[in-house]
Amino acid sequence: MIPFDFDYCKAETIEEAIKAYTEFKESGKAPLYYGGGTEIVTLCRRGQISPGALIDIKSIPECRVLGIEGERAVFGSALSLSEIADSKAFPLLDRTCLGIADRTVRNRLTLGGNVCGRLPYREAILPFLLCEGEALIAEEKSTRWVPLKAIFDKRLKLAPGELLVQMAVPKEALELPYSVARKTKGGRIAYPIVSAAGVKAKGAIRIALSGAFAYPALLGSTSNFEEGVGATGPFVELIEPFARSFISDAWASSDYRRLLTELSVAQIFEELGVRKQ
Ligand SMILES: Cc1cc2nc3c(=O)[nH]c(=O)nc-3n(C[C@H](O)[C@H](O)[C@H](O)COP(=O)(O)OP(=O)(O)OC[C@H]3O[C@@H](n4cnc5c(N)ncnc54)[C@H](O)[C@@H]3O)c2cc1C
Repeated sequence: MIPFDFDYCKAETIEEAIKAYTEFKESGKAPLYYGGGTEIVTLCRRGQISPGALIDIKSIPECRVLGIEGERAVFGSALSLSEIADSKAFPLLDRTCLGIADRTVRNRLTLGGNVCGRLPYREAILPFLLCEGEALIAEEKSTRWVPLKAIFDKRLKLAPGELLVQMAVPKEALELPYSVARKTKGGRIAYPIVSAAGVKAKGAIRIALSGAFAYPALLGSTSNFEEGVGATGPFVELIEPFARSFISDAWASSDYRRLLTELSVAQIFEELGVRKQ
């Protein structure tokens, strides 16, 4: 329960959602778009946020799309992580979603909420970072596709009032060889100490990480993987630029996170068919 009064609007179209946002904002209501609501409700309960209006986007048809549209494989922002995993449309994304929480919780968590939320993990973005993903962003004047490399830097850089409508990858990305390695403390259903995902594409291996840093990140790709992987193998080159970014918290020190990251990346290289030295 949210322990204070607020306005609620169930938007049926993108235009309605954007208009509601503008009007609530103009009347000083500090509105928020509402997906599964799990993060919003938690933060309201803790007194960390107090939105005066919530705009539910789950009935907007474009936010519920899942399928191929032209050259893109498209995933609506209001799809739950269970719906995405059950679709088996994008094996790497399915696998990533299945690592998050349990089924009952995943039935509520939305793709948009995961990607736009405040938590550092945001694991559902990893497959999109790895596969040259794009975001369909709506605002008052336009709806436009933006490559993640132009709009994602530690977080999705949405301006106030902008709505994430869909995420997409090129349809060929659905077939890319992939591997994931997720390390937790205290059981599978826990936030990751390190959640690593990798794909082999265009003669290179790309790796993206969640949990290791205060934000999800795409590491540089390495194309010399034929040389093999060892303690000084190419995966160390991927990690080194982030050496000072590993976080320490109650679950793991930065050194332990780095060790688990190295092991995870090595595991991904191995599973993607790279020789060990
Ligand atoms: C028990 C539990 C376990 C979890 N474990 C993990 C885990 O292991 N890994 C992980 O990555 N996450 C985990 N999470 C976090 C969870 O994935 C996110 O907090 C969640 O996905 C938020 O989704 P939601 O739909 O409930 O978001 P909401 O609470 O609806 O929204 C979150 C934020 O995103 C904004 N937002 C939502 N949709 C849009 C949109 N379309 N456009 C613009 N802004 C939008 C909202 O305004 C709000 O600020 C866990 C959460 C729970 C409850």
